[in-house]
Amino acid sequence: LPLLKESKVDVLIIGAGPAGYMAALWLARLGIKTKFIDKRSTKIFTGQADGLQPRVLEVFETFGFVDRALKEVAVGYEACFYEPDENGRIRRVDKLPEGVPGISRFNGSVIHQGRIETWLSDAIDEFSGGAIRVQRPLLPESLEIDAADADSPTAYPVRVVLKKLEDDNAAPEQYGHKVQNGLYRQFDGDQTNPAKSDTGEHQEVVRAKYVLGCDGAHSWVRQQLGIEHRGETTDYVWGVLDITPVTDFPDIRKRCSIHSQNDGSIMLIPRENGIVRLYIQLRQVDHHGDGNGDDSVPAGEKKSARVDRSKLTAEHILATAQKIFQPYSLEVAEMHWFTAYQIGQRVATAFQKDQRVFIAGDACHTHSPKAGQGMNVSMMDTFNLAWKIGYVVKGLARPSILATYELERRAVAEDLIAYDLKLSRLFSSKPGDISTNDFRRVIDKGSAFTTGCTVNYDASLLVDKPAGQPRDVPYHSALATKLAIGMRLPDVRLVMQSDARPLFINQQLPSTGEFRLLIFIGDYAQVPPLKKQMDDIGEYLARPENSLQRLRADSILQLMLIHASPQSKVEWDDFPLVFRPRDKRGLMNYWLVFGDTPSPHAQTGDAYEQYGIQRDVGAVVVLRPDGYVAKVAEPTVKGVKDIWEWLAGFIVDLKPSI
Ligand code: FAD
Repeated sequence: LPLLKESKVDVLIIGAGPAGYMAALWLARLGIKTKFIDKRSTKIFTGQADGLQPRVLEVFETFGFVDRALKEVAVGYEACFYEPDENGRIRRVDKLPEGVPGISRFNGSVIHQGRIETWLSDAIDEFSGGAIRVQRPLLPESLEIDAADADSPTAYPVRVVLKKLEDDNAAPEQYGHKVQNGLYRQFDGDQTNPAKSDTGEHQEVVRAKYVLGCDGAHSWVRQQLGIEHRGETTDYVWGVLDITPVTDFPDIRKRCSIHSQNDGSIMLIPRENGIVRLYIQLRQVDHHGDGNGDDSVPAGEKKSARVDRSKLTAEHILATAQKIFQPYSLEVAEMHWFTAYQIGQRVATAFQKDQRVFIAGDACHTHSPKAGQGMNVSMMDTFNLAWKIGYVVKGLARPSILATYELERRAVAEDLIAYDLKLSRLFSSKPGDISTNDFRRVIDKGSAFTTGCTVNYDASLLVDKPAGQPRDVPYHSALATKLAIGMRLPDVRLVMQSDARPLFINQQLPSTGEFRLLIFIGDYAQVPPLKKQMDDIGEYLARPENSLQRLRADSILQLMLIHASPQSKVEWDDFPLVFRPRDKRGLMNYWLVFGDTPSPHAQTGDAYEQYGIQRDVGAVVVLRPDGYVAKVAEPTVKGVKDIWEWLAGFIVDLKPSI
């Protein structure tokens, strides 16, 4: 046998969709040696997912490219509801604000997936200096985990054999439509010339410490690990059209839910560049074989049979949309993309094997795209996972933190599937079967969930709160009664102490991989005990035995001090030197001290109230590298010691201080 090319990497990412890109972005940011592969010869250019939830935009801000998104996306501000009147003609019955006003600085936005992947890809290029790029078309052929090595931190226990495909064979074949669409035939690279691959000249072996299966709903990695994808496929068939419309429908630039009398439902989403996406319910699978089902579904098919997608056309989907729209007209100036799908709600029975090979994104959970969550939840899966892997690869944290990935993300996947089931049933019900009020109640309740801002992680090594808290009830410490432990830090406005600039806290929390200690020291200038607490904390942290230098040098911990004293009573020299450190050249870091004080330039000065922190008591809030509140402690030396002890539970070689 010819000798195969062999390489070693810390992390191998299989699949360059949203989940894979987000993983690569974190690993690029953390400087981890990563190989990133996809079996397709090109990225996608049109269609597929399009919704960006506020939380994901917040995350994009922490990686420095939200501005690119904001320039290009269409933003949702209002939702309209349409129902049939007594003559069966649709008319608007309500208008509501879209999303949850005020939950984030960003509103739910839409743009096609290919564009989002471009921003991610450019940022990966920048952070990694071009070292991490998608290598295509590469198809994995086998994956083995050497169980004997699985516990060794220095071992590369996962062996993957990759096959290079010919470019021509790696473009998934579309069914013969003129319009770009998502009706791909499944392809697994089998079309490559077997004689060639048998020679081994198109193969290589990769040995990796960790492998991430980000390879979508039909995940090959999941199959290799023997993990089941459990759930059900429902009978509802939905079509998706991306069109530039010509219409007299008055709310075409607003998000609309349209229920018709007899022709099904539409969800309408205005998109970038005047495009509109329509999700259209096609008629149900015909169980009875009496010809009354969807024309494209062979009569007499069994319950939950899969629809033959090759028979669906854009014209057929458009014709259904036109019926639902009556009495309004709907013509198409340009058809950009279309697809059709049958809803399946599934969750993988495990998200990892031996804490060495992980799956993320659609590989773990599939559902309908109606809640606009697929791409978002997929990116947030690897946003949760990849920094943890980075810490372990760098030898900074113990591998035990990796178990929190499945704990945290399975809960999100299950909540998502439960919501999606409800939403799908609602959309697929007839107007008479469900009242508009019930419909809106479900949408309203789901609105908060779909912003991505209400994810609430359970107690674990990385979330210090009592175990067994219900996920839908935020858990607060008495020191910060509106800041939920396990949830993302809500954005507030502060004043930069050094230059009086008003800013949002999220802008000061870039994804660098650092935990953050936000020391809310309160009104130290007017409450003398707080001044002493601040000085004591400063003196304690400056002691060499407390390893602050090392935690800073390894980019594990960053300090931020947020006071609540009137600016007239504050001097720069009041603050202990650990909050105003100097580098080797003597240059001072001016960007770690903030005031929760009024600014003449912007509305500031209410952060303590928004977090439920008392100005004469204060609190220390520990943030994880992904921006979730991990712990709250008192703003004293005792509180800081408590935090050190907690950090020592997973940070390598950190001694709890005395
Ligand atoms: P994917 O985006 O599926 O990416 C997986 C990647 O892995 C792909 O690039 C693929 O080429 C690669 N890959 C797969 N197998 C292998 C392998 N064996 N080896 C190497 N690489 C591999 N969501 C919506 O919200 N609205 C929509 O209208 C919508 N339409 C969709 C239409 C289609 C055709 C598809 C496929 C998905 C659609 N989605 C939609 C879902 C949304 O795109 C997904 O939820 C999201 O993309 C999931 O991200 P992911 O990274 O987990 O997987």
